[in-house]
Amino acid sequence: MAKKKETIPSSFWEIQKKQQRVSIFLFLMLFIFYLLTIGLTSSVILITAGALLAGFHFFASPFFYKYTIIVLATALGLTLLNFVQARKNGVSYILKNLRACSPDPEDRYHLSFLNILEEMKISSGLPGLRGYIIPTVNLNSLSLIGQDGLPAIVVTEGLLGEASRDELQAVVAHETAHIIKGDTFLLTLVCSIAAFYEQLIDALDEQRELRQAEFKSHRSERGSPQPLIYLASFFSYLLLNFFVALISQKRELLADATAVELNRDPMALARVIYKAQVANSLLGDSSLFTPLFLVPPDSRDIQETSRDKLFNTHPPVSLRLKALTEMAHRSVREVMEEVRAREEQREKSRQPYISLEDRDPDFQDRLRQLQLQAREGLEKDSVWLVRNARGQWDGPFVLGSLITLPYFTPATKIMNIKENLEGAARNFPQVRFALYRQLKKQPLDPAYQNKCPTCRIELNEAFYEGVKIRKCPTCQGKLVATDDLEKIFARRELIFPGWLKQKALAYREALLDPVIKPPVLKEKQPAICPECGLQFTLRPFSYHYLMPVYKCYPCQKIWFEDQELEILQILVEERPRNHQPAGRT
Ligand SMILES: [Zn+2]
Ligand SMILES: [Zn+2]
Repeated sequence: MAKKKETIPSSFWEIQKKQQRVSIFLFLMLFIFYLLTIGLTSSVILITAGALLAGFHFFASPFFYKYTIIVLATALGLTLLNFVQARKNGVSYILKNLRACSPDPEDRYHLSFLNILEEMKISSGLPGLRGYIIPTVNLNSLSLIGQDGLPAIVVTEGLLGEASRDELQAVVAHETAHIIKGDTFLLTLVCSIAAFYEQLIDALDEQRELRQAEFKSHRSERGSPQPLIYLASFFSYLLLNFFVALISQKRELLADATAVELNRDPMALARVIYKAQVANSLLGDSSLFTPLFLVPPDSRDIQETSRDKLFNTHPPVSLRLKALTEMAHRSVREVMEEVRAREEQREKSRQPYISLEDRDPDFQDRLRQLQLQAREGLEKDSVWLVRNARGQWDGPFVLGSLITLPYFTPATKIMNIKENLEGAARNFPQVRFALYRQLKKQPLDPAYQNKCPTCRIELNEAFYEGVKIRKCPTCQGKLVATDDLEKIFARRELIFPGWLKQKALAYREALLDPVIKPPVLKEKQPAICPECGLQFTLRPFSYHYLMPVYKCYPCQKIWFEDQELEILQILVEERPRNHQPAGRT
């Protein structure tokens, strides 16, 4: 590292001038791509036609002249369309596709990220630096250039949860290095161009869904026909692979070096790259944007074979670690040792989890009493019967459950057993009022508003690993926004006792076993959402974690009963990781 400072351009103006050159170059490359694809396919078709049809000569001069002009014009048209579209909507499409959202300054982890961005903005001299967060437990980061020309750094919740402050600073420095060196601009544009066809398909799908909604027809099939999707993906990959030759693998190594110039902490960057590589599994469907990431979002590591050397967008992690540790005059082994030592330190500083089991037995009795009362209250309010499709009476239901029935409409025949009245639902003032409140997005029945679904106690505002939730002070039930769950899974502030871990692992075993139905799987009682007053839907938490939980789709919230959230968190933390980076998983 003899020639320092030279790698960092001195002014933003210089960067912008470089960006213009890159734009023109990419435009020309794209034009060549279309010229080649259109020219080749059409000439093959025409030459075959020429061979079959008598009197038709492909190379006959008046025809060939016209043909050349048509091919050139089509290629230019497509290039313009693709390029303009990429410049206009590319970044927002990438962000939407990655489910990236703005940081929440009220969240402790997000705030720390925003502070680091602000520091980096000042020390790097960039005119602005935006931040985005991807809600996933995986560890990764990327940088983009927004439509307004301002750079942005995107990190995952996993990275915020796992990286220490100095490691997060190192990641931000790495991404800033990409921005300063112009890689970000090039890659953002390349990925935007490559995503053109996928974007087109998505737009078609949206149109189709809108049309279907208008005609109120049933959703017969979702999305575009398969061949169209395959064709779009094929073109996207063709484009990406065409441009991949421009993406030098060296840029990662160079960015690592510049990052060290910016924040002088090669070991922190080495640690975070190592951690990301070990912890990473697939980051959703983002393979198209692979070149953008800190480490490839794929779980496989890159091998130093000639094939990988040609087609990979990232250098092997071992190479990057070696370069970084050399800068610090340390070894790769020391990186792994540091990661392990810090991990142990962190485990020690976790807050102990206090469970209901730790409290006195009298409390357990009181809780049971409360839950029984709540159950009775719910039964007392269950005064509605509904006539189903076969003409029989279903029920009794509470108002919130009645309205959530899939076949319920204002014209449905219902009966109030307390008042002994029968008629169309819309004739009951209670139902009309409830529907009106639902329309106004107000809680259906004030009596259930903000009350624990199992013990009817007023819910409190609480924080769970830095995330704002609503919690029942007695039964420890928790109402969590679906969007906040990845944050909770990514963060490790609570330490769980051994018996709870055992319980979680036993739970996973039981869920996977089709024969043993564990007691936790027993039919749960219907419960009312404390926010909207509608009945919760009982569904498995996710495809990977089959724990049945109460979900409210209109509110996008999940109600976790005592320990359910903790058990899920243990299962996510104990999920299999690829500890041998070389192995395929
Ligand atoms: Zn409760
Ligand atoms: Zn709700």
